[in-house]
Amino acid sequence: MPELPEVETVRRSLERLIAGQSIVAVQVREPRLRKPVAKNFAAILTGRVIHSVGRRGKYLNLRLDDEHVWLVHLGMTGQLTVCDPQTPLRTHDHVVMTLGDGRALRYNDPRRFGLMLVGTATEIEAAMALGVEPLSAAFSPRYLQEKAQLTRRTVKDVLMDQRVVAGVGNIYASELLFRAQVQPSRLVPTLDAEEMTRVVKATKAVLREAITHRGSSISDYRDGEGQPGDFQTRFRVYDREGQPCRTCKDPIRRETHGGRSSFFCSTCQV
Ligand SMILES: [Zn+2]
Repeated sequence: MPELPEVETVRRSLERLIAGQSIVAVQVREPRLRKPVAKNFAAILTGRVIHSVGRRGKYLNLRLDDEHVWLVHLGMTGQLTVCDPQTPLRTHDHVVMTLGDGRALRYNDPRRFGLMLVGTATEIEAAMALGVEPLSAAFSPRYLQEKAQLTRRTVKDVLMDQRVVAGVGNIYASELLFRAQVQPSRLVPTLDAEEMTRVVKATKAVLREAITHRGSSISDYRDGEGQPGDFQTRFRVYDREGQPCRTCKDPIRRETHGGRSSFFCSTCQV
């Protein structure tokens, strides 16, 4: 599933490719995404100009020239890409648009866990219901400490709770906890101030590095031009069960809870 670095990479490529473009035609070929695409979706978007392409957590927010915001969540396998209109339609191209300059903007999503809706800025903010941005100053050791007092969940669960901090998923939670030298199964109230600070610093550092490497392509993720990222070659723990830790050479371990795998080094992380 695309996490913050992948969505930010898509945002940057789309901002370059489509900001300032008008939407001249919209065709919803398959409305059954995570929630059905609204019947008036095409009517609201047609004729609008895409003012800017923003991001909040794992969501893309495309601001239109009439104060509407077009919200896109890529779900598990969504791709929003710009292409030549002559490119043959693919099986899972669910929403297809024509831009003012003749190019096509297409949303492809084999598993259909993505989300697409339009609304006012206030409606969109409410629909997302997100916590702070991890790369903003609002995500601080103090903030995490305050949230930690309210819960007895594991540090990994808290970091992946979008209402606490928006944009971290399973891959980057594993990677940043390795960087912070904290095991994913630790309950948050057991973290001391120094560990809390390390977790916050590692979150920002790992996300920034992943953005620099244009995200991680482990399955379907592509940016707005259809290009993959390469951060997956730099994983320290994610999907490396049994392989030697890049720091201490001990095998990386995998534990599953709540249907999700956590990868960690039991020597480097306490
Ligand atoms: Zn290690």
